[in-house]
Amino acid sequence: MRTDGRKNDELRSVEIVPDFTKTAGGSVLINWGGTRVLCTALLEEGTMPFLEGTGKGWLTAEYAMLPSSTGARKKRETSKPDGRSTEIKRLIGRALRNAVDYAKLGERVIWIDCDVLQADGGTRTASITGAYVALCLGVKKWLKEGRLTENPIVHKVAAVSAGIVGGEPMLDLCYKEDSKADVDMNFVINEKGEFIEIQGTGEGRSFTEEEFSSIVALSKKGIAELMALQARFEA
Ligand code: UDP
Repeated sequence: MRTDGRKNDELRSVEIVPDFTKTAGGSVLINWGGTRVLCTALLEEGTMPFLEGTGKGWLTAEYAMLPSSTGARKKRETSKPDGRSTEIKRLIGRALRNAVDYAKLGERVIWIDCDVLQADGGTRTASITGAYVALCLGVKKWLKEGRLTENPIVHKVAAVSAGIVGGEPMLDLCYKEDSKADVDMNFVINEKGEFIEIQGTGEGRSFTEEEFSSIVALSKKGIAELMALQARFEA
């Protein structure tokens, strides 16, 4: 039994609140256990310099944790993101770029912003899962407004963590579990169950192929449940 009473293959409760802010094209608050992330999507005309004249656009992401999102104040990233945030923003960007066809987007840039209001483990997976919904809501709005003529979303994307804690494979680690995990992994997966990215570390000890397979199976179960939640917001 886990500290919060969940079964090993159980996600924390996940709630996606659409249109959490009105100023962004797409905006959601994702409440995932004790983790809360505001995910927004904005559309800018004009593409990246290296894509000018190609008819193709781009998607880029930013990630930050607010100072009060953790028990010990996290220094505000005023000038540039710290190493961890840089790693996570790149992960979010790579994950969401898989969902988008740049030619269908045309010479435009989609900005994904993920701001962690409260952190309790899994902030990067909540960011990706929520950002996909923000993207869907944004695209619906931009199509309606005529800012886009074609839906550029070609794949679904969700992310979840899983690992080994106290010798047992577990889905969706909260902070308490994450901090004592022997093996800690993050999975970004599409609607076909194919992997977009896997981050995995044997932090406390090395792990076997069998253990890896059981963690993968847990992640697939979690992703299916997350995609069912995301489905009602799709463009
Ligand atoms: N954390 C924190 N302060 C930090 C970094 C992390 O309190 O500066 C906590 C937070 O709860 C976070 C967890 O540690 O969710 C796990 O962090 P990790 O870097 O593994 O990323 P995450 O699981 O959030 O994607």
